[in-house]
Amino acid sequence: MAQPVEITIPATGRKISVPTGLFINNEFVPSVDSKDTIETVNPATEEVICSVVGGSPTDIDVAVAAARKAFNTTWGKNVTGFERSRLMNKLADLMERDAEMLAELETLNNGKPVRVARDFDIGDSIQCIRYYAGWADKITGQTIEVDNKTKVAFTRHEPIGVCGQIIPWNYPINMWSWKIAPALAVGCTIVMKPSEVTPLTALKLSELFVEAGFPPGVLNTIPSLGSVGGAALAAHLDVDKVAFTGSTLTGRKIMEAAAKSNLKKVSLELGGKSPHIIFESADLEQAANWAGLGILYNTGQDCTAGSRLFVQDTIFDKFTALLAEKARALKIGDGFGDVSGGPVVSKTQYDRVWSYIESGKSEGAKILTGGEKRPGKGFYIDPTIFTDVKPHMKIVREEIFGPVLAVAKFSTEDEAITLANNTSYGLGAGLHSNDANQCMRVSSALEAGTVWVNQYNMLNNNVPFGGKKQSGIGRELGSYGLEEYTSIKAVHWNFGEKLDWPF
Ligand code: NAD
Repeated sequence: MAQPVEITIPATGRKISVPTGLFINNEFVPSVDSKDTIETVNPATEEVICSVVGGSPTDIDVAVAAARKAFNTTWGKNVTGFERSRLMNKLADLMERDAEMLAELETLNNGKPVRVARDFDIGDSIQCIRYYAGWADKITGQTIEVDNKTKVAFTRHEPIGVCGQIIPWNYPINMWSWKIAPALAVGCTIVMKPSEVTPLTALKLSELFVEAGFPPGVLNTIPSLGSVGGAALAAHLDVDKVAFTGSTLTGRKIMEAAAKSNLKKVSLELGGKSPHIIFESADLEQAANWAGLGILYNTGQDCTAGSRLFVQDTIFDKFTALLAEKARALKIGDGFGDVSGGPVVSKTQYDRVWSYIESGKSEGAKILTGGEKRPGKGFYIDPTIFTDVKPHMKIVREEIFGPVLAVAKFSTEDEAITLANNTSYGLGAGLHSNDANQCMRVSSALEAGTVWVNQYNMLNNNVPFGGKKQSGIGRELGSYGLEEYTSIKAVHWNFGEKLDWPF
């Protein structure tokens, strides 16, 4: 089994030929030794879409060997930055050409609204690839004066080598782009392991990679279970770097595997339990919009979801009533309809989120809106807002990764900061206030890799993103993202000093 299957998007009638094999050396191939298949499911209907090949550790070996060969022959130091840039821009153009089709495939497998997939996920991905294409011919080191008469040193920012990239299911195309773009820009080759829950768009994008004209082996795509292909990549002796986005639990395993194998470079973008603070001077209407977006965008399946909301006591009742009204007005349904949010991605995720909602109820939090199951098919969860929460509750401490918000009250700025920082995570944080000094004080005190002031969840391809504490190591996006894929070589050059012997 490695033949493409034709699937039909029910809502639009579009037919899409989806590759189902492992993508190695620019070809779709069967597994060397595994009969594993991965079944993909439409979360809006719970129906199976199709199955793809599930790669084995041996397949990972084959893909790594292909990536190594490309690194040593056609890519790596064998290709100019100008050429890398040209190919990356070509890929971005093809993604733009196929944006509607890719969006529909993303929605079918992930559930998110097709409008969001097309305009935000894919739009941002195209921009990300073009942004890093712009860097490809501008990778420069430094010249360092050592001794003006006889010696100079310079640095070269070399591609680190073969990279394993392991991505989650919440933004399949976006995470794919964030990972491949900086790696390709500096000259690395890639073995990509998409999430077993959403492998379809990574396979379809692999076709575009060939059409763009990249040499074989530069990108290889191996759908596989995390504990199989992901673990094999993280532990591989010929992988020079592993880049991971996913849960903190898996991040630990990846770091451990890297440490126990070849000490490969590791970057981790992990989970969060991000605080969002609303001060009394804020524009409440706007703050409620951003707080709603903060927890409900992508149905809460967002690593920076503002899942702990802290509202100043003087505006608490007014603000929470406004927020609940907005949450109730949001249309949640099949991503092919006119909706703002789709189902959560899978049965596993659906059960997980409901177990948190039940735990919130049993621990004594009060439901302001939501918290009731819908009848019928589809992994739908309506926006659920809890008030009267206490710091010890599971819904306050643990990442839920669903549309579930825990709202608490504070009275002073110091109290808000203490509550906000009371977490093992440090990915995102937000605050709303019309007092500029307060914005500066609080943004500086919050322990997070990203702080949003009077907005939330907005990222830019030229601004770095990543976590503090147990939310991760390293940065993606911006020029900082390039550092994760380069190895710095210092060259010391002697053009005059004679060495006496014996020294
Ligand atoms: P996950 O950790 O279960 O899986 C992520 C990826 O890791 C998948 O491709 C999976 O197959 C793979 N994997 C699983 N076990 C592995 C192992 N032992 N070795 C190697 N790879 C393995 O996470 P998920 O459920 O897919 O995604 C949700 C999580 O991702 C949430 O916790 C969320 O916060 C996090 N996330 C973080 C960011 C970020 O940028 N910080 C972005 C998106 C998602």
